Amino acid sequence: MARTSHSSKHTLKLTGSLRARVVEPTPLSAARAREQLKELASNLWWTWNETAQRAFAAVDPVLWDATKHSPLEMLERVQESTLAAACLEPGFRLVLADALAHRTQSLTAHSWYSRQAKLPKNLSVAYFCSEYAIHESMQQYSGGLGVLAGDHLKSASDLGVPLTAVGLLYEHGYYQQQFATDGTTRVLYPRIRRETMPILDTGHRVQCPIGDSTVHAKVWKATVGRVALYLLDANLAENTPEDRLLTEGLYKGEPALRMRQQVLLGVGGSIALRTVGVHATVYHLNEGHAAFAAIERCAQFVEGGASKANSMERVRASTAFTTHTPVPAGHDRYSVDDVWTALRPTLERAKMTHADLAALGRENPSDEAEPLCMTVLCLRLAAKVNGVAKLHGEVSRAMWTAAYGVKSAAKVPIFSITNGVHLPTWMHPLARDFWRSAAGFDPLAPEPKAPGWKKVRVVDRAEFWAMRSALRAQLVAFVRGRLARAVARRGASAFAMDAALSTLNPDALTIGFARRFATYKRAHLLMRDLERLTALVSNEKRPVQFLYAGKAHPRDAGGQELAQQIHAIAETPLFRGKIVLLEEYDMEVGRALVSGCDVWLNTPLRPHEASGTSGMKVPLHGGINCSISDGWWPESFDGTNGWTIGDARELPREARDEADAKSLYQLLEKSIVPEFYARGRDGLPMKWIDRALASAATVSPVFSAHRMVAEYCTKSYS
Ligand SMILES: *Cc1c(COP(=O)(O)O)cnc(C)c1O
Repeated sequence: MARTSHSSKHTLKLTGSLRARVVEPTPLSAARAREQLKELASNLWWTWNETAQRAFAAVDPVLWDATKHSPLEMLERVQESTLAAACLEPGFRLVLADALAHRTQSLTAHSWYSRQAKLPKNLSVAYFCSEYAIHESMQQYSGGLGVLAGDHLKSASDLGVPLTAVGLLYEHGYYQQQFATDGTTRVLYPRIRRETMPILDTGHRVQCPIGDSTVHAKVWKATVGRVALYLLDANLAENTPEDRLLTEGLYKGEPALRMRQQVLLGVGGSIALRTVGVHATVYHLNEGHAAFAAIERCAQFVEGGASKANSMERVRASTAFTTHTPVPAGHDRYSVDDVWTALRPTLERAKMTHADLAALGRENPSDEAEPLCMTVLCLRLAAKVNGVAKLHGEVSRAMWTAAYGVKSAAKVPIFSITNGVHLPTWMHPLARDFWRSAAGFDPLAPEPKAPGWKKVRVVDRAEFWAMRSALRAQLVAFVRGRLARAVARRGASAFAMDAALSTLNPDALTIGFARRFATYKRAHLLMRDLERLTALVSNEKRPVQFLYAGKAHPRDAGGQELAQQIHAIAETPLFRGKIVLLEEYDMEVGRALVSGCDVWLNTPLRPHEASGTSGMKVPLHGGINCSISDGWWPESFDGTNGWTIGDARELPREARDEADAKSLYQLLEKSIVPEFYARGRDGLPMKWIDRALASAATVSPVFSAHRMVAEYCTKSYS
């Protein structure tokens, strides 16, 4: 089987604490091992600590892969004799003991936050988001927003930032994608079994009024290192069938259902926090979905004796809001009357009238025709508002000038905190070990500043190239395994299986594109001129291969058509094996792609990409970005650490596509391919390696979630 996790193929490398232990660990019974593994699974700390993953993988590597790396599902299915056999292995006993010891040590360590004299000692952040991507075994996310939220929680844990998160627990998470032989998308919703999720029933219930209905929700708790994540579940017998659908799935329903889900998240979530005894000093609303939390908090202040005006002032002073959408149409909007109906019990407790609600949710309160916008509601009820990249901050200030009633965008008080990625989640252990030994620093240190990355420019070129080649080979093996599985599912012939297992070339320049198939991301930009593309991929001396992965929103016909087009091109004999489209795109596929690809392609229509984070994961492994000047990329690009496609001129859509595609082909033909294959006598592409190391040295220390969370602490939470 192909590499499917960071851990399964990795040989056991003894860490410092293990090496010191001379004596054999004591014998371990299968029952005791099961208990300890369950204990290790109970805190999602294991999702970003490789020692723990290695302990699970060692029990039954095949089952570990087959369960999508779900410890509880694996423990449920593993044969008792297999577990007993594992217990006889000293390596397993050591790694399990080490994982538990390492966890205790890292969760009790003196943290970065506790050393910050200038940051408030009594801080307690309540973080709201509609989705969390913690691990591929918990399909509670659809894409970038969830990945960002998951990374935020993990960094908050590593840095010791006092934070509690709130979300919804979806009965079946986001869909799984399969392609039929003709490229049409098949959408599957595997039901998630609670017993196999590392979550705890807190025993608490909340009652959330939505319109005339009182929705009951169970409060579950997931532990993410030092951070608690509370998840509301409305699939209870005491709810009406309609209300039970509130936590059925992620972004599935009609706008009316979506709006009611958002009432549950905001209002129910705030009630849940109070119920479990969390008294937050700051509420961080990550995207507009949780805007109604602010209304519930107003109601709580009014019930505590505050006036309506004072309650709003207090809510404002303690609310931070992050907007993620640079496109006006991307913001949730509902009719004021519909929101009034759904939120009336809460609004009445807050002593708010229909006119108050309209004034809070409309850009122009006196425009009777204007719907309520969740983002505007957040702008009005949050003192701190930020975009997720510098460019996105600019775009947001221009977009919301009218809402703030000011004359120029410069007067709009929206700042920016650029997104980052959680390095321990995304960095392949091979890369981590390489930087540790070759550059002599710990790239996973729980600190916002990472000065060690400066040293990577001078690592041994040959060793670096060996690491890159190993990662690329692992990716090729992973893709072959995935393709073989899809072929087997379609009942295809031995010939097709053979083709799947020999597709791709582990030594060829490998270019990746993985993201949601939303039309603005222009996955097909590379396919505008098939002749030029053919010339690129059919040069035997300088082979180039492209990997695609992504999902379209199940309701986005345009996105699905895009996936089908790419599928069709990948299936034509000319491109077969050189352009490959993977079926799924989840955290596991994401990890494999960002570690193995040499170049990461990003082709959004500027400025539609608020930030994007997948490109930040690539330089951690010595890969290089080739991107439109959009989202985070203009902040990072310095002329030496990657490639920028096109320019920032404003052009009509068709002309823009044409100009950007031309620029992309030119970069590939004139720079990217020649540089990759310009080998010295030692077989190394020196110019390429310089660029790759510049990319690692400049991107990795800056675009990390540790830096991002620290910035939230100083700019937004205090
Ligand atoms: C990193 C990641 C994302 C976000 O990346 P974008 O560049 O914003 O598309 C989405 N999905 C998965 C699975 C990821 O790993």
